[in-house]
This record gives sequence, structure tokens and C-alpha cells, in this order.
Amino acid sequence: MGLKRSKNFKSALKTADQWFSRYIRLRDADCTGEAQCVTCNTRKHFKEMDAGHFISRRYMSTRFDEKNVHAQCQKCNKYNSGEQFLYSRHVDVLYGKGTKDQLYKKSQEIKKYTKNDLMEIARMYKFNYTEMLQSKNIDLDA
Ligand SMILES: [Zn+2]
Repeated sequence: MGLKRSKNFKSALKTADQWFSRYIRLRDADCTGEAQCVTCNTRKHFKEMDAGHFISRRYMSTRFDEKNVHAQCQKCNKYNSGEQFLYSRHVDVLYGKGTKDQLYKKSQEIKKYTKNDLMEIARMYKFNYTEMLQSKNIDLDA
């Protein structure tokens, strides 16, 4: 029983992560489908970008915070450890001074999601993704 439950939770978490990531990368894309890396300004199609977290994904309370996650190239995200210093500056430029401290504080709070919470997050971001794809009029087959 316990194992099955944890497996379901894991797969719900994975699905929530996937839709959230798609939504964030699309949010940061222009109508050509290109997004700019949050830390080095490289431009690529949003599908080739990562959704890079400023504060690590392992902190659940900021894992799905839209201010904490942006389109980021794989070089910055994977190989340069997220370029956290540059990232922290960018967060304050985008959302106002003190935002990085607020996010840091929030990340230290305990947040426990249930499997249902995660499925709700997945549903919401799937919906938002589909809506935004239409409103930006991006043709994914082009
Ligand atoms: Zn980059």
C-alpha cells in the first residue's frame, strides 16, 4: 500500500512539474516562440529551454512560485548551477527590490502537497499553457 501511494504521489509531482515547466517557458516566449535565457540572454525556442529555478526545486514552497522560475538555457541551468548570483539580481529587477529575499524566506516555510494538490496544479497549468499558446498564436509545427 505505502509503496503504491508514494508512486502515485511521485507521478503526480512529475506531471505538475512538467506542465508548470511548459507554462513558464511559454510565458517567457515571444510570438515567434523564442525565449531569452534569464541569466545569459541567449535566445532559443522555448521548447529547447529549461525552466530554471532561482531557489532549488527541492524547496516545495517555492517550487511552483512563478517569480522563482523562468526560461533558462541548459548551459546556465545545468552546467553553471543556475547562475544563482545573476539570477538573484534579475529577480529583483523584474519584480522589485527585496523579491529575492522574500522568495528565500518563503522557501524556508514548510509546504506539504497532497497528491490531489499536485494534480490540481498540473490541471491548472495545462489549461493556462493551452490558453497562452492560442493567445500568442505560436505554431508548434512550423
Ligand atoms: Zn543562459
